[in-house]
Amino acid sequence: DLHPVRRALLSVSDKTGLIELGKALAERGVELLSTGGTARTLRDAGLDVKDVSEVTGFPEMMDGRVKTLHPMVHGGLLALRDNDTHVAAMTEHGIDAIDLLVVNLYPFEATVAKGAGYDECVENIDIGGPAMIRAAAKNHAFVNVVVDVEDYDNLLGDMDQHNGATCPKFRRKLAQKAYARTAAYDTAVSNWLADALELEAPKRRAFAGELKQTLRYGENSHQSAVFYTDGTNRPGVATAVQHQGKELSYNNINDTDAAFELVAEFDPAKGAACAIIKHANPCGVAEGATLLDAYKSAFDCDRTSAFGGIVALNQPLDVETAQEITGIFTEVVIAPGASDEAKAIFAAKKNLRLLTTDGLPDVTAGGKTVRQVAGGLLVQDKDNGVVGMEDLKVVTKKAPTEEQMRDLLFAWKVAKHVKSNAIVYVKDGATVGVGAGQMSRVDSALIAAKKAERMANVLGLSQPLTIGSAVASDAFFPFPDGLMEAAEAGATCVIQPGGSMRDDEVIAAADEAGLAMVFTGMRHFRH
Ligand code: 5GP
Repeated sequence: DLHPVRRALLSVSDKTGLIELGKALAERGVELLSTGGTARTLRDAGLDVKDVSEVTGFPEMMDGRVKTLHPMVHGGLLALRDNDTHVAAMTEHGIDAIDLLVVNLYPFEATVAKGAGYDECVENIDIGGPAMIRAAAKNHAFVNVVVDVEDYDNLLGDMDQHNGATCPKFRRKLAQKAYARTAAYDTAVSNWLADALELEAPKRRAFAGELKQTLRYGENSHQSAVFYTDGTNRPGVATAVQHQGKELSYNNINDTDAAFELVAEFDPAKGAACAIIKHANPCGVAEGATLLDAYKSAFDCDRTSAFGGIVALNQPLDVETAQEITGIFTEVVIAPGASDEAKAIFAAKKNLRLLTTDGLPDVTAGGKTVRQVAGGLLVQDKDNGVVGMEDLKVVTKKAPTEEQMRDLLFAWKVAKHVKSNAIVYVKDGATVGVGAGQMSRVDSALIAAKKAERMANVLGLSQPLTIGSAVASDAFFPFPDGLMEAAEAGATCVIQPGGSMRDDEVIAAADEAGLAMVFTGMRHFRH
């Protein structure tokens, strides 16, 4: 049923839009109640506001820990207006009904994100706010609960449609959002505690998300899909700004994420890099003196697969690279910025999506990855393992040259982002063959070499670029056969984790083939 909004309680930490809302409510004859800072803001804007402390007969106390936790407030929120005993209790205790609650909570998530100390985080756990939100949301038959600045206009819109009242469906929607908000809030608190305690496996863990976009469909057109942000606000596909092109699809988002996370392995201060992705696997990755060079070299790894791919850059898109990218059909380009001239080039390509971010993802940052299995969630630390020159152990008679070392480390960075089994051939700072997702490492080595042969034909080279290349394997070679396949393709140096029962055999085979091989001691499975 329609229910009039006569009395509102406003208590907000984020005061965006507060004065406008207060004015709009006052104009509609709504009485305003408020807590300390919120009341002050409204009053300073010339609005008539009653302090909650006047209603409760208690001052705000204990550093604001206790402001609104009182029957005069909670009774006003929870009383059923059509229940005689509830109404009698209100009359007996002088409780006035509250029809609208506007609350946004102490900024707990932001306090944690800015790296505040333990006590400051604890102090930013809002208690009265969630209590009121949950009370108002429970009583949505009568009460409106607004937890999101974005809903201020929606509230006024619904009131104006119904002569100062709101409709039940609107209140129900507000209530749904309200419980999602308190759930997300407590999730943040609980996860923060789990991290602070360094709990590997908390007995209970909650996950929360905020809807970013409903997608046209999922991986396939018969699957519906939506995109949620997780509140971490990391630079990446979830926070990127889209400048043009159609809405991103489920697969676009997944692939763009893979592309950007991969290219972020390459420090933009050390040089330009480009990654081209298809179906979440790279079909070309390269460094270059310029972004244009990097893009061209990445493209030359596998021109066939790059068609309809996702391009990620580690530096802002410039006009020369933009021009070159428009040479073939590309789904998405993501970069930490783009020049106006580059944007102008893309503007002519209506279907090409351009996304920019404020920076690159931090590949060393922690975090969790979550995967669903039947009846459960698999949760693990994000693979933020990074290997440097100093971590490598030369295991063969021959040691790699400096140049080979550079290509080995390059290949290793790429292999981390290739679905297992991964074999990656690299020459002169560019992939020249990528073998991904095979059930046998030997087949990955073979497929990557075959692709290099095909590209040699396309590029009119006398021999495939795998000749004299560096090769990376995301996990150890369990037998010498995979290694031998790579040697046959022309690889002269190898990077792999080591740790197989048959490492001795594999090392002996490498020595016999005259290869230089290093162990990283770290594996990068990715499934
Ligand atoms: P104000 O700026 O109005 O002084 O404070 C607003 C904030 O106080 C809001 O974020 C609201 O959720 C929070 N709040 C309201 N009542 C209580 C309470 O009783 N205890 C605590 N800890 N926070 C409250």
